[in-house]
Amino acid sequence: MSQKQTLSFQAEVAQLLHLVTHSLYSNKEIFLRELISNASDACDKLRFEALHHPELYEDAPNLEVRVSFDKDARTLTIADNGIGLSQQEAIDNLGTIAKSGTREFMSRLSGDQKADAQLIGQFGVGFYSGFIVADRITVESRRAGLKPEEGVRWVSGGAGDFEVETITRPQRGTSVTLHLREDASDYLSTWKIKSIISKYSDHIQLPILMRKEEWKEGEDGKPGEHVLSDEWETVNQATALWTRAKKDITPEQYQEFYKSISHDYEEPLAWTHNRVEGSTEYTQLLFIPSHAPFDLWNRDKAAGVKLYVKRVFIMDDAEALLPAYLRFVKGVVDSADLPLNVSRELLQESRDVKAIREGNTRRVLAMIEDLAKAEQDAESADKEKFAKFWAEFGAVLKEGLGEDFGNRERIAKLLRFASTQSDTASVSLAAYKARMKEGQEAIYYITGDTQAAAAHSPQLEIFRKKGIEVLYMTDRVDEWALSFLTEFEGTPLQSVAKGQVDLGKLQDEGEKKAAEKAAESFKPVLAKLKEALKDKAQDVRVTTRLVDSPACLVVTEGGMSLQLARLMKQAGQ
Ligand code: ADP
Ligand code: MG
Repeated sequence: MSQKQTLSFQAEVAQLLHLVTHSLYSNKEIFLRELISNASDACDKLRFEALHHPELYEDAPNLEVRVSFDKDARTLTIADNGIGLSQQEAIDNLGTIAKSGTREFMSRLSGDQKADAQLIGQFGVGFYSGFIVADRITVESRRAGLKPEEGVRWVSGGAGDFEVETITRPQRGTSVTLHLREDASDYLSTWKIKSIISKYSDHIQLPILMRKEEWKEGEDGKPGEHVLSDEWETVNQATALWTRAKKDITPEQYQEFYKSISHDYEEPLAWTHNRVEGSTEYTQLLFIPSHAPFDLWNRDKAAGVKLYVKRVFIMDDAEALLPAYLRFVKGVVDSADLPLNVSRELLQESRDVKAIREGNTRRVLAMIEDLAKAEQDAESADKEKFAKFWAEFGAVLKEGLGEDFGNRERIAKLLRFASTQSDTASVSLAAYKARMKEGQEAIYYITGDTQAAAAHSPQLEIFRKKGIEVLYMTDRVDEWALSFLTEFEGTPLQSVAKGQVDLGKLQDEGEKKAAEKAAESFKPVLAKLKEALKDKAQDVRVTTRLVDSPACLVVTEGGMSLQLARLMKQAGQ
């Protein structure tokens, strides 16, 4: 196909483009970060494919990105010698949004410019952000391995359609040329571009080159000026951030790095950066985001950890590097021991990976523990962070009780609940224990769909009367997760809705006597009730757990709780 072909954008792209061009002015400069990150991805992909096909390097093995501009033509070009695009790939990748998150993205647009601009970054619809500053974008590319005559030119004004045609392009890789809008002249400046690159793209491993500027004295009385020379210079640090020494990295650099790998717009809550030595050597740089992603509940969604082997990018979302209950963590692991051609299947079986996963888990839990500690410290700048963490990720962390037996105690210490004495989910099991009544032998809890429903349960009456705290378990996972936690530091956990509530030493002699007497005198009534309910209830008994209500339902010790039964029923079981 050598003729020009005009194709329409997928409807979602058209919608997105409309948004990009009509409402996103607040943070224009992010377009450069997005395009450089694409160039860097393309180089990563080439490096990876070349592991098996070194001939793909052709005669240009040094991967790089060149950023240049032309003041007269008002264009800014980002060129890479990465994997490139075939014609079909250009059509597919630059004309549709293949990612499943897009519909979600569209549905979350709020009309508020700032929030929407941030969403763009979060959902990684990066390429189209070029249209924030350009009214036309030209992409020229040739995929590594294809013939020079099999290049492609893709042009679009960012409205409903784009053109593609075949071109001859000797050099491999992609150049993206932005035809800048009137109000985007700022970007025709070496200084401006350099400053954006150092802000967002310093850690990109690839050298980013720009033309050197020279001072040219004015002739014939004309003032001197900066002119571009033919020489190129590297304008970024070009070392992977995680390979640098901790002491040389500023908090801002960590934060920018986090934003660039996570597509998040908010700063992370915490991070941990370590070089681990020993039988398995690796570097880990892991972040806890400050808010949950929209698909946190999708357990199939892989974790957000990128795997590198000796600085070569291997894969995104390497789920084997963290257990599922820590899937909210983002970051990078760079291993010195894994083979470069490692596959997902191999990862599952590797002993090194197992060691890395355990190391990562320990570090992440330590990070959360530090946040919990900071919460207790009035002086700490991080005082608010644990509550935030818990609100966003607490329910996911609970899955760890059932999933990670080795760390169950550490996880148990991090749990927080609302209770009959605290409206907010802030009571730890340790705090509960510390204020247990004299003679109290169990940690009591009640499950329910909502906190309000749990709080109104008649089963709480006796506990209220006696001033005994009861924890509310109202997360969907609580019932399941708590079934793995039968005790905390020697004290059993006990549901107030199960079996006989034996308040043991908390009951005084008088109460015990009265209860026994009542049981005696109610015997005939109980027998009648049992008979009447024989298909519906296993047993009918006199109870001391109620104060005001005449009766309540309980399940047998070890039986499925009412809450769990309801959930199972909802799930069609
Ligand atoms: P993402 O980078 O999250 O995949 P983008 O909108 O930034 O989304 O890019 C869309 C797709 O276009 C990329 O996945 C890639 O296939 C292709 N692409 C963009 N820029 C380049 C490039 N410089 N080289 C090769 N492919 C590219
Ligand atoms: Mg991108």
